[in-house]
Amino acid sequence: MQLPGGLVENGARRRDWAFHPVSGALELALAEAGEQAASTPEAVTRALALALDRLAGEAATRPRVAGLCVGDRQFLMRELDRHLGHQGGWFQAECRQCGARFDFPLDYADLPVQEAGEGYPQAQVDMDGRQLRFRLPTGADQEILAGLPEAEAPRWLLRQLANDPEALAPLAQTPGQDLIAAADAALDAIAPGIVLRVQTSCPECGGGNEVELDPYRALARGSDNLLREVHQIAAHYHWSEADILNLPRARRHRYLQLIDRARGMAE
Ligand SMILES: [Zn+2]
Repeated sequence: MQLPGGLVENGARRRDWAFHPVSGALELALAEAGEQAASTPEAVTRALALALDRLAGEAATRPRVAGLCVGDRQFLMRELDRHLGHQGGWFQAECRQCGARFDFPLDYADLPVQEAGEGYPQAQVDMDGRQLRFRLPTGADQEILAGLPEAEAPRWLLRQLANDPEALAPLAQTPGQDLIAAADAALDAIAPGIVLRVQTSCPECGGGNEVELDPYRALARGSDNLLREVHQIAAHYHWSEADILNLPRARRHRYLQLIDRARGMAE
């Protein structure tokens, strides 16, 4: 599936992408990106630059990955989770009616993806007789936002996204809540993206609940399991860490089964 938005470079919009095959080396690099980055947006940029073989016709450098709009980055992070073998899985929720905690299954393939709207990646706002244009925020914007005080963020972002920041001057002297809201709504209307909330019902009381889905689950997987697998194989076959990490994942798992069997632990 193509990117729901796409990268616009030199006036051309491209939506193609491809991941590298999964190896232990990639899994470990992704886990470390999640563990070591200063912020979630930075971790996403690192992870996607590692995982993508190609992005919009060229190499997936960090600046190009950071230049993707937020919806495309969330889409790719969910696709990355699928690529790593997680087609969805069990999600946790706490019922808003009775307080019960419950798990519910979800298949990513069942969730719709919203394509970008007309004018992508820009939207127009008519405010006090002026026509203002704003672009959708990117990963690079998010990386800066992560380091700003929360109170400054909306106005900083408004200037950052404006096609002509000078035109904002007379409007943005006041807090500009109207303009921020209008720009938000106009950008929302054209923003591509994945579903971040689902409706589910509580198994205890039957009450309806809206549950938020973390689009960045692939970052939270950590390296513990992988390192345990490397340890098991290294202890048995005495291969180097690099050799084991370079095995395709399916083969690594076959070796783990063989080791289990050799120990008489397999069922
Ligand atoms: Zn309930």
